[in-house]
Amino acid sequence: MKRQSPVLAAWGAGVEPTAMIIELIARGEPPDAVLMADTGSERPETDRFVPIFRAWMDDHGIENHVVRYEPKRFRHWPPYYSLLENLLTNGTLPSISFGRHSCSAKWKIAPQDRWAANWPPALETWARGERVTKLIGYDCSPADTRRYADREGYDDPRFHCRYPLREWGWTRADCVARIGQEGLPVPVKSSCFFCAAMKPDEVRTLPPELLRLIVLIEARAKPRLRNVDGLWRKPVQGCRGVQARPGAMTEFIRDETLLPHEEIEAIERLAPHDLLAFQDRAAGIDLYNRPTMRSWLDRFHQSPVV
Ligand code: SF4
Repeated sequence: MKRQSPVLAAWGAGVEPTAMIIELIARGEPPDAVLMADTGSERPETDRFVPIFRAWMDDHGIENHVVRYEPKRFRHWPPYYSLLENLLTNGTLPSISFGRHSCSAKWKIAPQDRWAANWPPALETWARGERVTKLIGYDCSPADTRRYADREGYDDPRFHCRYPLREWGWTRADCVARIGQEGLPVPVKSSCFFCAAMKPDEVRTLPPELLRLIVLIEARAKPRLRNVDGLWRKPVQGCRGVQARPGAMTEFIRDETLLPHEEIEAIERLAPHDLLAFQDRAAGIDLYNRPTMRSWLDRFHQSPVV
């Protein structure tokens, strides 16, 4: 009898993949393992939802793991362990703000691939010359249909991708309803809190400490920005259901008074200099004793203008 290939589900902690996993289990087709890649810079709601759904998966006997990119070569930099800290180290924005996708390739896809590369069922499958089945939670919305079309052109010899929500004809509304039926809270769209994909309404919900970090990211990156205004790249005029917004999230935060003007001005004026001075000092310290980027951020959180 032909052995079935092992099934791995990519779970971004958003609505669609969560509903996909719930329904697959109900249909008697549970995945063999579920992976969530954590950039260390998720929205607070996502950080709260992850342990809730992991506990639900544990109760249903589903193997699940949170994986992370682990930077190792810091050269002269303070060690960093999240995408946020990576951006502040390099004084840049996430690649999505430049229309590229290397931030998710590095912080989401690569850690999942690395985990799979050490998963015995995958190794046995690849040794037989077969593929592991990867479940992707794209639904039937126009946006996910475009993402599906992009992916379909890419042939990965290690994985066969399956899109259960699309097989079932499910929309986002079906997914929300299914999660509610299960008695679970409905997760927010999962993304880094500074992602270009964040909508104005979503930025409005962020707590002040994350708004301050957005101002810091843009202020630190500003000297090197040429063709984009900030995390949102370029301004968008509001029309046909699209919310108007500037290219820089700091401008939006200022216009909407989400933080006091004086605080924004002080972060922009003082924090990047303090951070650069910290990095210069750290560069002269051997790696073993070098302070981490997290230690500077702890100081920034205590006093945003450091
Ligand atoms: S959520 Fe946005 S910023 Fe974060 S890794 Fe993905 S594309 Fe990059």
